[in-house]
Amino acid sequence: MGFTTFGLAPQILEGVKAMGYTDPTPIQLRAIPTLLEGRDIIGSAQTGTGKTAAFALPILSRLGSHKPGLARVLILEPTRELAAQVEVAIRDYARYTDLRIVVMFGGVGYGAQKEAMLKGVDIIVATPGRLLDHMGQGIVKLEGIESLVLDEADRMLDMGFMPDVKRIVQHCPRKRQTALFSATIPPVIETLIQWCMHDPETIEIGARRSPAETVKHVVYPVAEAQKNELLIELLERVHYDSVIIFCRTKHGADRVATLLKNSNHAVAVLHSNRTQKEREQALSGFREGKFEVLVATDIAARGLDIASVSHVINYDVPLHAEDYVHRIGRTGRAENTGDAFTILVAEENKQLAAIERYIGKPIPREKLEGFNYTYSTVLDAPKPGATPNYGSTRAVRVHGGYHFSPAGGGRRRR
Ligand code: AMP
Repeated sequence: MGFTTFGLAPQILEGVKAMGYTDPTPIQLRAIPTLLEGRDIIGSAQTGTGKTAAFALPILSRLGSHKPGLARVLILEPTRELAAQVEVAIRDYARYTDLRIVVMFGGVGYGAQKEAMLKGVDIIVATPGRLLDHMGQGIVKLEGIESLVLDEADRMLDMGFMPDVKRIVQHCPRKRQTALFSATIPPVIETLIQWCMHDPETIEIGARRSPAETVKHVVYPVAEAQKNELLIELLERVHYDSVIIFCRTKHGADRVATLLKNSNHAVAVLHSNRTQKEREQALSGFREGKFEVLVATDIAARGLDIASVSHVINYDVPLHAEDYVHRIGRTGRAENTGDAFTILVAEENKQLAAIERYIGKPIPREKLEGFNYTYSTVLDAPKPGATPNYGSTRAVRVHGGYHFSPAGGGRRRR
């Protein structure tokens, strides 16, 4: 079934066509008709499922054309990067309309955002803090909001935005449409749903916790002292289009970036100590292919839509199992497939076991053929009576080479 049967506005359909989308994704099939009817939805779909279009297309369709006066749609996002990305997507879908959109987030001047508001906008995409600043200054008024989208609600909760989100919701009219997206629904979000939604339809696409099925997961156990060597070797051997390497700390990310730069890789770095301008340059350079490798902390992990990330490498095992799913969500987006490699040292075994419990399956351990290195000793077989430990050396399999080529790897020519 194509997009034409939904009853979307013709100029929105044109926008979809221009994007090259032929068939709706499962979440779009479920969400578009419900939102077009004006009903509320709770969407618990993974990233990469097409959820932005799932809410944007029907909401834009209902808006029709530009109306002077107050903004009619508000989309809240947890991070600046996500806000910027959703704004770009909405501009794409709305390109054949005269709808006006503004994006508001911190770290940049107020001028352009104020100016846009004064001219009049239909759609606001914002992070909660900056939106409240503008509301405090009387620049933004929410009395005209007809549709409210709370995107990545669990992430907003993690980042401590829940009080801000509640204050914002309180300023919106009670009679409105609300769409909430969240990978998980912890009790606080459940309470928020009870409080701010009206008879919502719940749309769950795939198992909530399972990472994208198209991603091949591999763990490489190694001694701490050889982590860097292994990373360099992996990059040498893998045929990749683009790689995101995740590090636990900002300093770690900077160190890895320097290491890779010294090995002649084109590297960009993304973490919260960098200025807004640096972050934007890193992201756009990576999207355009100027940088082949992006080294990032978890702020970049959620929701960022970077087309054709072929590989994700976890330089450190993430502390929270959920972050693993979000990190590897960067690859295997839409129809792409990808590989997710995790470098494991002994101290991280517990974290990895937690991840395996969370995703409900063991991740195979592998060893790079011909690369001489040591496993950490903790990876020995579990003691009798102990709970099975997926980190057992018995699980280690010497690599057959499905994503390695004997001719050597490196970046594939585009
Ligand atoms: P999202 O889950 O919203 O971040 O979307 C993930 C990616 O899928 C984005 O690059 C979208 O442009 C793309 N996408 C969304 N809907 C479709 C569709 N129906 N067909 C093909 N690609 C899509």
